[in-house]
Amino acid sequence: MRRTRVRFAPSPTGPLHMGGVRTALYNFLYARQKGGDFIIRIEDTDSARFVPGAEKYIIEALNWCGIKADEGVDENGNIVEIPSEKHPHAPYRQSQRRGIYRKYAEELVEKGWAYYAFDSAEELASMRSEAEGKGETFIYNYQSREKLKNSLTLPKEEVERLLESTTDWTVRFKMPQDRVVAMDDLIRGHVEVNTSTLDDKVLWKRADELPTYHLANIVDDHLMEITEVIRGEEWLPSLPLHYLLYEAFGWSETMPRFAHLPLLLKPVGNGKLSKRDGDKMGFPVFPLHWVNSAGETYHGYREDGYFPEAFVNMLAMLGWNPGTEQEIFSMQELIEQFSLDKVSKSGAKFNPDKAKWYNKEYLRAKSNEELAREYLPVLKEQGVEADFDYVCKVVGIIKERATFVSDFWTIAPYLFVAPSEYVEKDLKKFGTAENYAMALEAIKADAELEEYIRAKEWPMGKVMNCIRLGLSGSGSGLAIADIISCIGKEEAIKRMEKLADHLLCA
Ligand code: GLU
Repeated sequence: MRRTRVRFAPSPTGPLHMGGVRTALYNFLYARQKGGDFIIRIEDTDSARFVPGAEKYIIEALNWCGIKADEGVDENGNIVEIPSEKHPHAPYRQSQRRGIYRKYAEELVEKGWAYYAFDSAEELASMRSEAEGKGETFIYNYQSREKLKNSLTLPKEEVERLLESTTDWTVRFKMPQDRVVAMDDLIRGHVEVNTSTLDDKVLWKRADELPTYHLANIVDDHLMEITEVIRGEEWLPSLPLHYLLYEAFGWSETMPRFAHLPLLLKPVGNGKLSKRDGDKMGFPVFPLHWVNSAGETYHGYREDGYFPEAFVNMLAMLGWNPGTEQEIFSMQELIEQFSLDKVSKSGAKFNPDKAKWYNKEYLRAKSNEELAREYLPVLKEQGVEADFDYVCKVVGIIKERATFVSDFWTIAPYLFVAPSEYVEKDLKKFGTAENYAMALEAIKADAELEEYIRAKEWPMGKVMNCIRLGLSGSGSGLAIADIISCIGKEEAIKRMEKLADHLLCA
C-alpha cells in the first residue's frame, strides 16, 4: 500500500474562487482521513497569466479556512524553496523547478511520443484565421501535423539546425490516431475517449524554457508520488492526454487515481458560478476580499463577517452529501465522514441563503465570551467603551437574532447608548400623553412591570410599547425585561423622562 499523497495545485492567476477552496478542502479531508499527506504546489509556468499577490492570497485563504498543508508551505505561510526532510520535493513552485522538465520533454521525443514543432506563433495564427475564413477550426493533430513544420516532416539536419538556431520552437505531444483511451474516474466512473478527437498539445516551450501545465503537472505528480488527483471538472477533457503521458513515460503502474469534482453553479439558472455573479447578486464568491490591478474590489467571506468554520461547512456540502440528514459538521467530523463516492456527478447549485444559515447556526453555537470578544472591536468603532461581562450578557440576549457579529450593533445599539431619535410612526402610535403617563408610573413603581400594569387594568400592549419606545427608540424589538436587565432601572427611568421631550402630543 502506498502512502496517500494528494495535492492542491493552484495557478496564481488571481484570487482563489470558492470552488478552488472546495477543491483544496476535499483534498485536505481525504489526506487527513487516510492519514496521508496534503501537499500544496504552485503551478506558475504560464507567466502571461501570473498575477502578483495571488499566491499569498491563496495561502492566506486556506489558512483562514484551517486547511493546512503538510508539505510545500512552511510555518510562516511561505512556499518552500529549499528541500528538507519535511519538504523533500522543494521547490514547490514550478517556475523554480524549470530545470527539470526539459529532459522529460526530450525523453518523449526520443521515444516517439512527441516531436519538435517549428511553426511560429504568427504562422499558427494565420493558419487559424485561414481555417476560420472557411468556417473550419484549425487544430494541430495527426492530420495537420503531416503538413506543418516539425521534426516529423523536416529532414533531420534541418531539424537540428532549427533547434540550434531558433528559439520559438516547442515540443508537442504526438497524439495517437484512432486509439480509445479508457479511463476510470472515482466520481464520474468509466470514461472512454477516441484520441482522433484530440489535438497535439504543447508540452514545453523553448522561448521561455518552460513546460506547459500538462507536462509540469504530470512530471510533478509523479515525482511527488501523488496517489490521488482530486480537481475540478474543467480538467476532465485533459484526462486522456494525462493518461497517455503516464503511459509514454512508462509510469502507468504508479499513475494516481483521478477524481473530477462537479462544478459550482449559479444560484439561479444553470451556468457556472462566476466572480461576476457575486457582485450582481450581492454575495461573496471569494474567501477573502480582493482588489485587482484595475482597482476593482471583490467581496470576501472573511470580511463580510462569515466564520471560517461556517464557510468550510457550507463548502463541504456543495457537491458532497453524507447520506444522512446531518448538516452541521466540524472539520474533524468532515475528516471522519468525507468520501469521494458520495460526491455528486452533477453540478452543485450555490445557495447564498444557505451560506447565511450556516453562519447563523455557528454564531448561535458560540459562547457569549467568544462572541463578545469579536463584538468589542465593533463597539469600539462605534465609540462605545463597555465592560466585558456586560458585553457577554448583551450578546447572550441578542445572538438568536443575528446572522453576523456585525448585526449585534444594528439589533440593539440602545443596550449601550440611549436613543437620541425615535421612530416617527411609533412615536405617533404609542407616545400619546395617556400612554406616557401610565408608562412612566409603571416604570417607576417598585413592582414587576407587567404585574403592575395588569393590576391597574391598563392596556398592556400600549403601555409596554410606549416603554419600549422610550428605552430603545422604537416600538418593536427586544423584550422590555431584557432591556431593563441590561441597562438597569435607573437608566430606564431616565430614558422615559427624556422621551417626554420628544412626545408630539406632550
Ligand atoms: N494548476 C491547475 C489549476 O489551476 C491544477 C489542475 C490540477 O489539479 O491538475 O487548476
